[in-house]
Amino acid sequence: MKFTQLGLNDHILRAIKEQGYTEPTPIQAKAIPLVLEGKDVLAGAQTGTGKTAGFTLPILQLLSKKPKPQGKRKVQVLVLTPTRELAAQVAESVRTYGKYLPFKSMVIFGGVSINPQIHTLKQGVDLVIGTPGRILDLMNQRALDLRDVEHFILDEADRMLDMGFINDIKKILKVLPQRRQNLLFSATFSKEIKILADGLLNSPVLIEVARNETSGQVEQIVYPVDKGRKRELLTQLITEEKWTQVLVFTRTKHMANRLAEQLDKDGITSAAIHGNKSQNARTKALSQFKDGKVRVLVATDIAARGIDIDQLAHVVNYELPNVPEDYVHRIGRTGRAGNTGQAISLVCVDEHEYLRNIEALIRKRVPQVQIKGFLPDPSIKAEKINQGGGRGRRGGGGGNRGGNGGGNGGGGNRNNSRGGRSNAQRKNGESATGKPNRKPRARASHRD
Ligand code: AMP
Repeated sequence: MKFTQLGLNDHILRAIKEQGYTEPTPIQAKAIPLVLEGKDVLAGAQTGTGKTAGFTLPILQLLSKKPKPQGKRKVQVLVLTPTRELAAQVAESVRTYGKYLPFKSMVIFGGVSINPQIHTLKQGVDLVIGTPGRILDLMNQRALDLRDVEHFILDEADRMLDMGFINDIKKILKVLPQRRQNLLFSATFSKEIKILADGLLNSPVLIEVARNETSGQVEQIVYPVDKGRKRELLTQLITEEKWTQVLVFTRTKHMANRLAEQLDKDGITSAAIHGNKSQNARTKALSQFKDGKVRVLVATDIAARGIDIDQLAHVVNYELPNVPEDYVHRIGRTGRAGNTGQAISLVCVDEHEYLRNIEALIRKRVPQVQIKGFLPDPSIKAEKINQGGGRGRRGGGGGNRGGNGGGNGGGGNRNNSRGGRSNAQRKNGESATGKPNRKPRARASHRD
């Protein structure tokens, strides 16, 4: 199929062409005609499938067809995303695809001054892309009026719920007009997502692309290794295989910091991003990584959400996630848009249960390769992984807030077994471990 067959106008086709896209991805081919028809859509698509263009292109087309509104621009499109990074990413796509159209879009998230956002809103915008907390703040300050929204998109809805945004979403939905088009995108479909979809969507059309399945473009490998030797192995892999851009995942913010420092000491330029870092620090680390100034970006799950790096060849799970769906999200950072990628998991004996849960979810065994010199010591017995306040949604064992369990993957990180959260963590809806909080938090506690 060609983009020209989808009924998009020349301005949009020109922008797509400039991006070098020749054909719509499967989710685009399915979603675009439905959205153009004005249907509500429930789409099972993980990041990396081209879902952003899947909703942005037809929405821009629909806006183009409307008569030019008189007076100040009104917000006609609202896209909610779980993280600031994803909001920025989607907003960039909207700008790119809409560069030859007259619409104004803006991104809204917390962690940065609210005044410029109020100023931009005063001038009028057509499309708003943002995270729920700051959007609510602006609504409460009467700076953001959503009563004219005609198209509402909930992006990465599963992550929204994980992060406890459900109450914020409900508050936002209350002010939207009854008559509107709703699109819900989610990489995974839990019972909670189905309930949310039932309440939100009107006779939705369900479309699915590789739900709960990892992309065929991504080669997955497990390297069994002792916990205490993961860093040594990672350094060896990066240097010997001459990886130039590697996204590394840890379960906790503490481990993200520690690993980035250690790799730096090993002569591998690294930066860490997690919810304890200021928005500016996160943006800077990400741009240094994208520009190749930093070779390794160590990230926790939330912080990495929305990161879109073209041709990122390597993703490393330094620690496996306790929530199996996070594995799908993590490895979706590579192998994007037709590129190939490698997702490597360094798995110690403590993490065997996590691996089993992941393999059950993706319905396949991940090949295991033993690296010479890193054979796990069979005398080391599995220890319970301390989730110290993490979600523990499915993988079980969570909710041990402030608990003091055994060593954390990668070498007994006692610090993160404390339950306390910093202000930045509260803002980002993260627990002390850098994981999102499971329960919706009281208002103003996870403002974004
Ligand atoms: P997304 O899943 O929306 O985050 O998109 C993943 C990546 O695919 C982004 O880098 C897009 O620029 C790229 N992309 C989106 N649509 C296409 C397409 N039709 N052809 C090639 N690349 C695309």
